[in-house]
Amino acid sequence: MKKLRLAITGMTACSGCQLSLLNCENELPDLLEKFDFSFFPLASSPLDLIGEYDASIVEGCVSMPHEKKLLLELRNRSRYLIAVGTCAVFGGVAALKNDEEREVLRKQVYGSSSIVESTFRPLPLNNLVQVDASITGCPPEKMELLRLLGGLLAGALPVDSDYPVCTECRIRENICLLTERGELCLGMLVSGGCHARCPSMAVPCEGCRGPLPEANLREALRIYAEKGFDRETVFARLRRFCPEWRL
Ligand code: SF4
Ligand code: SF4
Repeated sequence: MKKLRLAITGMTACSGCQLSLLNCENELPDLLEKFDFSFFPLASSPLDLIGEYDASIVEGCVSMPHEKKLLLELRNRSRYLIAVGTCAVFGGVAALKNDEEREVLRKQVYGSSSIVESTFRPLPLNNLVQVDASITGCPPEKMELLRLLGGLLAGALPVDSDYPVCTECRIRENICLLTERGELCLGMLVSGGCHARCPSMAVPCEGCRGPLPEANLREALRIYAEKGFDRETVFARLRRFCPEWRL
């Protein structure tokens, strides 16, 4: 069977999503038999795009001209372009300050230095190119990345989660941090898939997987209000990982 040619790279990101894939040590030998990691600058050379790709797997949001150029080129060369991680899907933490002036932010961080490349408001990938599928999470779960690759071998793309973190919490028989401990846990509004990773360790869900489109916002806000969390507090917490999240 012919190996699938992959391009894997990051835009404005912390590399955590790509590292999650590289952390699949047990599976990497099998993956190398089935995939040609033709462009994966974090892991290997070459550092230039060559030819066409069966899929491009892209981490991070886009905030610099050279990233935009690379993304467009990947799109043109790839059958599928897949956004991986909350930054790529929603903007993520890099887009936290999107309501503020870029120039003001640049000066706060870099002063008058001119060595910094010009940047623009960080954008999720789908603001610039067609995205064929997404995997959210900061970072995504290893199993989700492996399922993505397995699906590609079968010609299938991943589908979005349609249940909240709360569902996974119930499956794991955790106590509810919101109703039983009065903590601001976002689980009921957030896409599941992490097996309720944080609440299972008694840490409230911070919303790193981004919004669940089917969530019942009105009812959620009523429950939060009952527990003493007003709309603004919930909203501020939700926007940490998905700055465009509007209630
Ligand atoms: S989604 Fe999280 S882990 Fe992935 S690049 Fe963004 S900040 Fe890093
Ligand atoms: S519980 Fe919430 S914050 Fe924790 S990994 Fe899952 S989605 Fe992210």
